Parts: sequence; C-alpha cells; structure tokens
Amino acid sequence: MPTCIICGHAHTSSTYYTAKEMMFGMRDTFTYFECEHCGCVQIVAPPEDLSKYYPQTYYSYHATPLVDPPLKRFLKTQRMNFVLTGKGLIGRLMYQLTGVPDILKWMKHSSLNLDSKILDVGCGAGVFLLELHQLGFKHVQGVDPFLESDIFYNNGVKIWKKELKDMTDTFDLIMFHHSLEHISTPHAYLEIARKLLTPNGVVLIRVPLAGTFAWKHYGVNWVQLDPPRHLFLPTVKSMYLLAEQCGFEIFKTEFDSTEFQFWGSEQYLKDIPLNDLRSYSKNPEQSIFSSADIAAFRARAEALNCEEQGDSACFYLRKI
Ligand SMILES: [Zn+2]
Repeated sequence: MPTCIICGHAHTSSTYYTAKEMMFGMRDTFTYFECEHCGCVQIVAPPEDLSKYYPQTYYSYHATPLVDPPLKRFLKTQRMNFVLTGKGLIGRLMYQLTGVPDILKWMKHSSLNLDSKILDVGCGAGVFLLELHQLGFKHVQGVDPFLESDIFYNNGVKIWKKELKDMTDTFDLIMFHHSLEHISTPHAYLEIARKLLTPNGVVLIRVPLAGTFAWKHYGVNWVQLDPPRHLFLPTVKSMYLLAEQCGFEIFKTEFDSTEFQFWGSEQYLKDIPLNDLRSYSKNPEQSIFSSADIAAFRARAEALNCEEQGDSACFYLRKI
C-alpha cells in the first residue's frame, strides 16, 4: 500500500490512474494515485532509471547571455527600480505601459535588492539567472546536478553541477522553478534550503498543482501530470503541509497558470505528443488550434487563476 510523499497518509482506496509518457510520445505507462488526505497526485513507483526520460533534448545545456540594446536595457532597469522601490518617473511609465513581468514580481515579493544573493535550484542553463544579472542582480548562482559540467558565463554568472546539499554559501532567495516535482525527497531538499537561507530569506517554489480544474477535467491527459518525470503534483493543501513540516510558512501564493494547460491537454486527448510535429509548441501553424483558440485558452487560464483553480502557482516561503 503506497503512502503519500507529502503527508504520509496510507492509500487505502482501490482507485489508481494509468498515465502515458507523452512529452516525447514514448507512451510507456505509469501508475499514479491521489492522496485521500492532502490530494497530492503522485507516482506509485518511479522507474529505477529515469535517465531515459531525460534525453539530451530535454535540457538546454548552455544559454547565450542576454544582451539587450542599451536603451532597452536602461528602460527595463528603470522599470525594475520602480517595482522594487516605488521610485522613478521613467520606471513608472514603463510599468504603466508594460505591466510587471513575472521575474520582477518574484523579486518584489521576496523583498530583494540588487545586492541580494540568489540561488536557482534545478536551473538548467540558467535563463532566469542571466536575465536577473542583466537587470543588475550581481550575486546570482544556479545549481543543477544533471548538467554535463559547471557553466561559468563571461558575465560572472555561475552554474554548478552539484547537488543542493553540496552548496556552502548562504542566500536571500532560493528558487525552485518547476524543479521540486522532479525530486523524490522534497522534504530533504527544503530542509537543506532552510539551512542555506539567511534569517529573513525567502524560498520561492513554482509547481504544477493537482486539485485544480485541469486535473479534475483532463485526468491522466492533464499535460502537467507529465509521467514519469513529475513524481508528485501537490495541491495547495499539500504545499502548506510540506512547508510546515520543513519549518516554513507560506506568506504568499500567486496562481500563474497559462494556456498550456488547455492546448497541451487537448493534444493529449487526441494522442498528439508535446514534441510532435503537429504540436502547437513545435509548429503552431500546423497545430489543431487557431490563434483564436489559443487566445480563448489564455483568457480561461487567467479566469482560473483568479478563482485559484489554475494548474500552477508560485509559493513564497519564509522560516518560522
Ligand atoms: Zn497526502
């Protein structure tokens, strides 16, 4: 009888779900169950060797550091200063014209400044870190044990091929962008993160969420179930339990789901893998969706986020 990865509740129900690998269209099947206590949807037994499901094409192992033209960079920096400090006329105008990109929301809600130390866990080639560096955050690092080797960019951004437990520095912000659900020991990772965090530091976790519309509506065809790479899909309740068990409180939650939950899941219903040539992500013109369909999906995602039913969210944690 499996027990819940988050809350430890024993699964007594006879209900199990059989789901297929559909990112690459391998169609290998895996069994998942939904915790009767916290609602976390999770794999019964991860494959012994997951590497088959992370082929070279899964990761971009190296990114090109962003170098915006000077004017664009100036305007982005002004906007960031306004978002972080509330000061600056040009930044205010940019903010009013363009809104706030997610990356700035993460920094603002984490109460950071340009001297803050930031770590991205499971960062791949470090796309977010490169953007943060360009915005003026100088102390940004990444860690990802699945890289081929360390990456040291010319601009000073460092990405370590390491486990989180092997990091020795301390950080004001530790981020997990859609990486925690790939980990079989989330408690251990959060406990390590807690040790690496400065006293007022923040852990930011972005994860797909079970218990929401997309899981209820699409079930095993929900694109973010992503078997077998996603070992568990927490609910909001699961996230609160996990945070508390690891000595954190969640002080803010933002639903950030997108149209992906609709077009990806609709493709799976029609047996079209994510990386198929007919997939919207590969070939929008050849996909089964019109631009009007995608716009409607986007509007529905925004509505779901307002109702706290979007299929992903960003959680902000601090130590208790
Ligand atoms: Zn549970």
